[in-house]
Order: sequence, then structure tokens, then C-alpha cells
Amino acid sequence: MDATGTPASQSFIQQEARHGARNYAPVPVVVDHAKDCLVWDVEGREYIDMMSAYSSVSHGHLHPRIVAAAHRQLEKVAVMSRAYYGTTLGPLLEKLSEVTGFERALPMNTGAEAVETAIKCARRWGHRIKGIPDGMQKILVARGNFHGRTSTIVGFSSEVEYRAGFGPFCDGFQHFDFGDMASVKAAATEHTCAVLIEPIQGEAGVIVPPAGFFQELREWCTRNDILLIDDEVQAGLGRTGKWFAFEHEGIRPDALILGKALGAGLLPVSAFCADERVMQVFVPNSHGSTFGGNALAAAVALEGLKVLQEEGLVEHCAEKGAYLFQRLREVQAQVAPLIRDVRGRGLWIGVDIEPSCTTARDLVERLAANGVLSKETHDTVIRFAPPLTITFDLMDRAVDIFHRVAREKHQELGLGTRAGSANGVKATV
Ligand SMILES: *Cc1c(COP(=O)(O)O)cnc(C)c1O
Repeated sequence: MDATGTPASQSFIQQEARHGARNYAPVPVVVDHAKDCLVWDVEGREYIDMMSAYSSVSHGHLHPRIVAAAHRQLEKVAVMSRAYYGTTLGPLLEKLSEVTGFERALPMNTGAEAVETAIKCARRWGHRIKGIPDGMQKILVARGNFHGRTSTIVGFSSEVEYRAGFGPFCDGFQHFDFGDMASVKAAATEHTCAVLIEPIQGEAGVIVPPAGFFQELREWCTRNDILLIDDEVQAGLGRTGKWFAFEHEGIRPDALILGKALGAGLLPVSAFCADERVMQVFVPNSHGSTFGGNALAAAVALEGLKVLQEEGLVEHCAEKGAYLFQRLREVQAQVAPLIRDVRGRGLWIGVDIEPSCTTARDLVERLAANGVLSKETHDTVIRFAPPLTITFDLMDRAVDIFHRVAREKHQELGLGTRAGSANGVKATV
């Protein structure tokens, strides 16, 4: 019986359906508890977490060192607001400087808030430092972007469902095609103060930019006195096999946005990081957040960064990611043409399903029914992004299950046979 057919699961699912807004369509698995890379549902079934809450659980669920740090802080103080100083925020900011190379950081809670912080910073910098008339500042954003869900941010999304009916939207954003320098140049004006961009477009389907794009973008931004703001809410802190995805490109942005894994799997913690020449635009009363940088969040984030450093999770990610990528490519070859692409970097891999065969969601639900948690993005991409603590053994188990599920689908569709082509599925080798 699958999760939806059992009484305990069913009652939780129905309760959410009855009383919640319908803004999510969860995979029907009711999680009761989790440890590192494994998750158990209310019926006690075990799952391998190949999703890690979109990178938020990069350290694995409830990492003992991070839980211990939280407990220690809970014996002292959790929330005071930034009206006073504390003993954990300073150490976190110093550690962030050390790992990012940026002089300063501004702590917020969710990723979207850190993006909003970046937008405000870029505009004020554009006016006060670059000399653009206030109210005229423009920020360039990529088509297919995902930077969060506030009304300002969805206003510059190119995704219909993120925007429909939510207008009026905020002015001051212009679009370019991700990875296309000519398109960036065409979108820019003398009022452009910043480019806001993801190093790899996650929600868009794990889209890796063409080689050299970011270097060209970096040079062009420098030449035109435009800030390059890198949203690494999902890509940052080891996910791609380096501390930050910009390192793959051989560049350094002017500002960096972090979130998700910064909360080390326990809390929402985000940050906007930049050097003094950019961060100087914030003065007392210009920006803030009641919970941003609270004592508990800072203690947890600091321990999370130390764990990444001391357990070598970033270095391991590169090696494990290469292995997972290779194994998924092997599956692709064996179930052609069901999978049309496997792409990604580090432990962040999108498996792109041939739409004439089935949807990503169909396979995600079959995977869940077989003990592997993944998540679709758009209709065709399955995202595999396990905790960085994943073992080779667990990756093998997950890929074997994926292979079986894909092969079953393949057989159902009658692919690899004459019937396959008769069904209108293009047979590619
Ligand atoms: C998830 C995400 C955000 C938004 O973070 P929230 O914590 O959901 O507000 C912003 N940018 C990117 C690239 C993300 O992946």
C-alpha cells in the first residue's frame, strides 16, 4: 500500500487539505522523523532523502553538532532583536567574511528577504554612489529566474503562474536571456545599477550557464560600473562541489546572497554579503529585520559553517556529485529515450524527462512509493540534491531504485521496441 492508502498518513494529508491554503501539491509522503540522509514516514517506512529541502538540509537532517549548538544556545538566549548586541552574531559575521571573502554581511531570515536586501542595496548604491537619479535605477534579471516569492520578486519572474493576478508589480527590472551576453547588453541602459543572477538556475531546471558567460558578464559589469549580484541561496555553501558556484566560473561577484543551507537544516537564516564599498549604503534605520541575526539563528548558522569546513563536506561533494552524475548518465543510456538530459554540478543534478514519455511528477511519485525522495521542477525535470553527507552506498541504493522505476516506465510505454515508435515516441539512440 502506498502512503496515501494508509490511515495515519491519510488523516494528516486530509487535515492539511482541509485547513491549509492550496498553494502546494506535496508528494504524498507524511514525514514523521529524519536522521542524516534518511527519512521515515508515520507508518515507519524508510526513504532516502535525495532532495534535502532544496539544499536547506545540506548538512543532513539534525546534524548532532548543530543540534548540540542549538541546545547550548537554548540554555542562554534565543531572540533579543538587533536592538542589542549578542555573543553569537559577531562570530557568525566574522566566519561569513572568512568563507565568502566579503568584508560585511547583513543577516536576514529567508532567502527572499536577503534578495530584497540586495535589491534595496543595489538601488541605493546606484543612486548615491553611481549617481543614477533616484527612482530611475534598473536591475537586470534573467528570464527563467527564481529569487523568491515576495510581490517585488515575483513581479520580475518570467513564470506565468508565479505572477498571474498578483499585480501591480514593481518597476525597475529588465530581462535578459540567461547565458546570453548580447541579450544582457541589449537590456542595459545608463540607469542600470546591477545584474541579479543565479549562478545555476535551479527552479528553471538546473540550467548550467555556457562556459565563459560569467567571465564576460563580470568584465562587462566592471567596465560599466554595474554591480554583479550573485544569488547563491540554493547553489552556495558546497552544493556544487565548491564553497560557492562563482568559483567554477573563475570570477568574484560584487555581492553574494546566501540562505537555505546557511540555516544548517534547523532554521531559516539568510545573509546579504558585500564589501564596504557596496554595504556602506546601509546606515541605521535604513533596513532591518526583527528576527534577522537572532542569537539562536546565529549560533546554528555558525556551527553549520564550521561543520562544512571541519568535515570536508564541500570537497566530498565534488567527488560524490561526479559519481552520482555518472551513474544517472548510465541509467539514461539504458532507458532511452525516456531521459533526454542529465545535467548539473556537484550534488545538484536535474534529470530531464522526455515529455512525450511521461511527466517528472509521475516518476517522482513512483520514486517516493519506492523509498526515494526527489522533487520535480516544471513538468519535465526531476531534481536530485541529497544532503552533502550522503554516502556512496545510499547513492547506489537511490540510483538502483531510480533505474528500476525508469525501466518499469520504459516497459509500460513499450519503448525500445517497434511498439515504442508506433506510439509516436521518437526512437533516439
Ligand atoms: C529558494 C530560493 C530563494 C528564496 O528563498 P526562500 O527562503 O524560499 O525565501 C531565492 N533564490 C534562490 C536562488 C532560491 O533557490
